[in-house]
Amino acid sequence: MTERIDDIEKAAGTLRAGGLVAFPTETVYGLGANAEDAAAVSRIFQVKGRPPSHPLIVHIGGAAQLDDWVEDVPETARLLAERFWPGPLTLVLRRSRRVPYEATGGLETVAVRVPDHPVALALLAAFGGGVTAPSANRFGNVSPTAADHVRAELGDAVDFVLDGGLCAVGVESTIVDVTGEAPSILRPGGVTREDLEAALGRPLAVPSTSGVRVPGQHPSHYAPRARVVLVEPERVVAEAEVAQRQGRRVGVFLPPSLAGAPVEAHAAVAVPGSMDAYARGLYGFLRELDQRGCELIIASLPREEGLGLAIANRLRRAAGPRPERL
Ligand code: AMP
Ligand code: MG
Repeated sequence: MTERIDDIEKAAGTLRAGGLVAFPTETVYGLGANAEDAAAVSRIFQVKGRPPSHPLIVHIGGAAQLDDWVEDVPETARLLAERFWPGPLTLVLRRSRRVPYEATGGLETVAVRVPDHPVALALLAAFGGGVTAPSANRFGNVSPTAADHVRAELGDAVDFVLDGGLCAVGVESTIVDVTGEAPSILRPGGVTREDLEAALGRPLAVPSTSGVRVPGQHPSHYAPRARVVLVEPERVVAEAEVAQRQGRRVGVFLPPSLAGAPVEAHAAVAVPGSMDAYARGLYGFLRELDQRGCELIIASLPREEGLGLAIANRLRRAAGPRPERL
């Protein structure tokens, strides 16, 4: 325990000195910088290879700090913060001048959330300010859900890595824009649309899959090295076997309905029946199939309700058209 407190202090010191700290949250690992240090925030973009126009999330230690970072907080935002923080919900609000444009991609709005992870909360308390952080991976790749994923992908580019074990939720936060007339979901994530609608007492717009307003909406994102192909669940085995016989190294996401079915493929993962467990395991499964040398991953989409909406969103992005880089 003393060691842990020591690590938190070291990490907070690194942030104060303008360094980058990777830290666990309940969603995925974040690559954090002092939100008010424009130079440190800019380094995040360099390390990730992320276009500077793509805004980051400012992580704060509690809902009471919200007014330090944003202006004009509507009642809806207070209600959602009260109900879901700490937790995997990010609110987009009007930025206060305290937030540099480097963190907002030049926008007049800022994304804010309170993470629900003891290590993240301890870091925020020790540091005292806001920590701006995207996921701690290179732009477009699979997000890290373990400290080892961060070390393997970013190595020495990060000044300090806090290890908080595996992330409990496993997919990124739900982003809700509360600046307009009606709140809208910009990215589905760890808080379900159904729970948000129950809290608000009204329906929310289904997230668009066409725009590129936020990075999570790029055609290819959350993508492993292997190409991802989505088919109907009952076609998974047949499609995998055809490709495998053509000499490709095929990885399969075997849906729960086919648990234990024999499949002729290079590697297979059994998709959990529970959406909580699937979300928690999703990025690890994609990494595992990459590590086992798969060139192609055949998967199907879960039902798009509850956490299934976020899982399906990530799988669609993973299967999306890729820029030349890939
Ligand atoms: P990441 O999870 O790594 O993609 O990083 C943070 C997410 O928050 C991205 O999807 C951003 O687009 C989103 N975000 C941050 N600030 C804003 C904003 N002002 N408006 C819309 N989305 C935002
Ligand atoms: Mg990301």
